[in-house]
Amino acid sequence: MLVTIAAFSEAYEAHLLRGRLQAEGVSVFIAHEMTVANMWHRSVAFGGVKVQVPYDQIETAREIERDCRLGVYKELLSREVGDLDDATCPRCGCLVYQKRRPFPRAALAVFLSLYLGVVLPPLGWIYRCESCLREYRAPHRPLSPQKIMVVAAVIIATGLSEIALLHWIHSAFGCPGAMECF
Ligand SMILES: [Zn+2]
Repeated sequence: MLVTIAAFSEAYEAHLLRGRLQAEGVSVFIAHEMTVANMWHRSVAFGGVKVQVPYDQIETAREIERDCRLGVYKELLSREVGDLDDATCPRCGCLVYQKRRPFPRAALAVFLSLYLGVVLPPLGWIYRCESCLREYRAPHRPLSPQKIMVVAAVIIATGLSEIALLHWIHSAFGCPGAMECF
């Protein structure tokens, strides 16, 4: 008999846990992945993408799932490969957090993506520690020349595609009203 040990709204999250469980020798099955992918708006009604294990492996699987949530494997990884460039709570050192964008940045990102089709890089997150609930920001990292080049290239490419789109609309449908064609 299969037992559900975790459910996620996104399939990739379920597969991250599946990979960990399989690496630890637990048999894993993913349920409702395609159903949720095809009817994402009913994901909550289906109970999400489910990670299921055989009944006799449930204790081991639950322990591994809890260690994943508490960041045990993340800590092992950072010991092996060094700094993961990840946010750490300045008060208690916990690596598990939730993050959100400050409201003005979120509003600007939505406006630019709807109006110009520009996607702003996710910078300036506010982190909330899962352990002590303190809110903090990640340490400021200066912009490198590569990052500036990428941002400039994105802005130029977006501008050119906007001009090309407008040009195509004008040539296909003519001048709207008093606007002058270019
Ligand atoms: Zn903390």
